[in-house]
Amino acid sequence: MRKKVLSVLLAGVMSMMLAACGDKSPVEVPEAAAPAETTAAEAGTGEVAGAQKEEAASYPEDVQAVIDRGVLRVGVKNAVIGFGYEDPLTGEYSGLEIELARDLAARLGVDVEFTAVTAATRTELLDSGDIDCVLATFTITDARKESWDFTTPYYTDYVSVLVEDAKGIKSLSDLTDATVGVSSGSTSAKSLVKAMIEQGLISSDGFDEESFDPATWTEGVKFQQYDDYPTISTALSAGEVDAFCVDKSILAIYKTEGRSYIDAEFAPQNYGIATTKGSGMSEVAEQLITERLADGTIGKLITENGLD
Ligand code: GLU
Repeated sequence: MRKKVLSVLLAGVMSMMLAACGDKSPVEVPEAAAPAETTAAEAGTGEVAGAQKEEAASYPEDVQAVIDRGVLRVGVKNAVIGFGYEDPLTGEYSGLEIELARDLAARLGVDVEFTAVTAATRTELLDSGDIDCVLATFTITDARKESWDFTTPYYTDYVSVLVEDAKGIKSLSDLTDATVGVSSGSTSAKSLVKAMIEQGLISSDGFDEESFDPATWTEGVKFQQYDDYPTISTALSAGEVDAFCVDKSILAIYKTEGRSYIDAEFAPQNYGIATTKGSGMSEVAEQLITERLADGTIGKLITENGLD
């Protein structure tokens, strides 16, 4: 993708050079500007490209506001390799969700600005208007659909559990009476309890999908909630929790030597782009995902990012 952006840039530079040399052949104008990129921390210093606004097209108010601003602000993960990952040395973002965010910004002809979010902060930032959409391993659920719009899923992951080998925990049945670290605002605790109920490891008495609260659940397994994943990983090393439960894609970076996944993957997690309910951005995002699923781009990005 970076190569693609570079080649668009290069094509632009070559066109300008040809024009400067007085070449009479028609000069090709690249269709979309190569969008500039900033992170939220650098906001205000990035150059606004916004040169390719479609003058005739009329957009819903919220989309027009993004176009006028010249920047699409996207909430992404920064430590989920293959989805949203920020290189600590270069500050460069990469991954499937990053490419989709760039694609979304490019079709509006604006720059993209990434804000690193967590499961706990992503909806607050969307609701407050600090970001325009969320592309952050955000699982589509019926309950969440009541508060936000989600696109058609672009990826399906599963929940799993990471443990320190020394603990000897190998399967869901070894997790009975364990304390499990989960992120606040995530689907993880409920998914684990459901999987344990389905395997007959714990009783379903008192389990209610709608009112389930990890903070008060004590039937067969307990939860400790944290604001972010590095803190859960530290808690796992320190023995503060017996296990770390979340989507496998997120666990990958914390699976260091001496740690293993238990022998269970459960609760399919369909990831979608989340936007403000009823907003014009919801339509733009949906259009992007349906098109990119149909033209094979998402399939290609999944392979390129090692996610299949
Ligand atoms: N994908 C899960 C969720 O949306 C795990 C949390 C996360 O994405 O960080 O709840």
